[in-house]
Amino acid sequence: MSTHTETVMSFKSEMEAHLAQSKLSSSGIKSTVHRFSRYRALASGGYLLKVSTCDIAQARAILNKVAEAEVDMDEYVSDDDESYTRCPVCRSVNVQAEPLSTQMFLLSVVLLGLPFLFIARDWSCRKCDHRWRT
Ligand SMILES: [Zn+2]
Repeated sequence: MSTHTETVMSFKSEMEAHLAQSKLSSSGIKSTVHRFSRYRALASGGYLLKVSTCDIAQARAILNKVAEAEVDMDEYVSDDDESYTRCPVCRSVNVQAEPLSTQMFLLSVVLLGLPFLFIARDWSCRKCDHRWRT
């Protein structure tokens, strides 16, 4: 059997690459994640997913299908993983920070001279639509 591999897709984050890898393996395709050097990672996706040349067409088809569907992060994050921000109501990790208003941003710079990251953010949950402030 040939041991040649080809890059099927590149990813910005290691997590995305491993998600794709697990999708492929559930379809019986072996793949490996390769990391670019830091220098090269700046120019393109930092992580490459490689499969055997004979699997490349099938792997592409599977990943294209995955890319069309929105990824449900709750399927991949374990319940006790506290490194993610969670919805206080339904515990989903499908949450997003609302962008700060321009006013708030200017206020934080003028009054505090601090990066706006320290200001309370409004969050919203994509699962149950709950909104809260941290
Ligand atoms: Zn929720």
